[in-house]
Amino acid sequence: MKIVVFSGAGLSKESGIPTFRDSTNGLWENFRVEEVATPEGWWANKNKVLKFYEARWHNIKACEPNAAHLAIAKLQEKHEVHNITQNIDDLLERAGCTKVWHIHGSITRRKCEDFRCIYEADHDKPVEHGDLCPICKSQCRPDVVWFGEIVNDNPQYLSELIKTADVFIGVGSSIQVYPAASFALQYFIKTKHKFFVDPDPNPRLVRLGYEVFEGKAVEMIPKAISKLEEYVA
Ligand code: NAD
Repeated sequence: MKIVVFSGAGLSKESGIPTFRDSTNGLWENFRVEEVATPEGWWANKNKVLKFYEARWHNIKACEPNAAHLAIAKLQEKHEVHNITQNIDDLLERAGCTKVWHIHGSITRRKCEDFRCIYEADHDKPVEHGDLCPICKSQCRPDVVWFGEIVNDNPQYLSELIKTADVFIGVGSSIQVYPAASFALQYFIKTKHKFFVDPDPNPRLVRLGYEVFEGKAVEMIPKAISKLEEYVA
């Protein structure tokens, strides 16, 4: 079967990465979003932005994939699994997932400020002031999509997935922010089996025909997968 897993920040919460909306969110509390996660913030004060992402980079590197990431990776033993994630962490890849599309970018990759050349970071450290793009020599920044920027798109891949997916599993997303919300609320709503895992699920999901598993990803992703296996047995 072809399975699409669409994830938001809730998937990585039990690994120790706070969601953007957490009230006890240490990573964001000393920073204003418009100063550290917008193009305007970058051009006003690059050092401040790099300091913010340095802290996020260290937080992510200190975390490990949780039971939900590992269960999603294990699905690949029997099925073709495509991950579409809003997360900038690399926990799906570290769990063993091979097909991961980061629509909001990835903190382990870099791109440059002028020409958006994207490349994998070849060293184990966050971007620093003075790190230049090996292709065009302009200053590097993390390959994350900031507020006001266009999400990473891949229209051909997406239209093929929409036509051929048998199962859609959404997890850990408030699905309030577009265009990411469209993946769960529009693009895949005709998929035969649709599941959603979240402790505080969006009320629209039930009306759209989702089977909703209310709870943490680490507990509910394995349950949703067992349910799927019952259906296709
Ligand atoms: P979001 O809009 O996807 O909301 C988080 C969702 O996770 C909520 O619906 C919440 O109910 C749910 N949740 C909370 N705990 C959970 C758990 N244990 N298991 C499953 N679900 C749980 O995401 P956001 O936090 O508002 O972040 C907005 C954007 O910021 C993201 O789309 C992403 O681009 C970025 N971000 C990324 C990371 C990461 O890479 N891990 C973390 C924070 C924010």
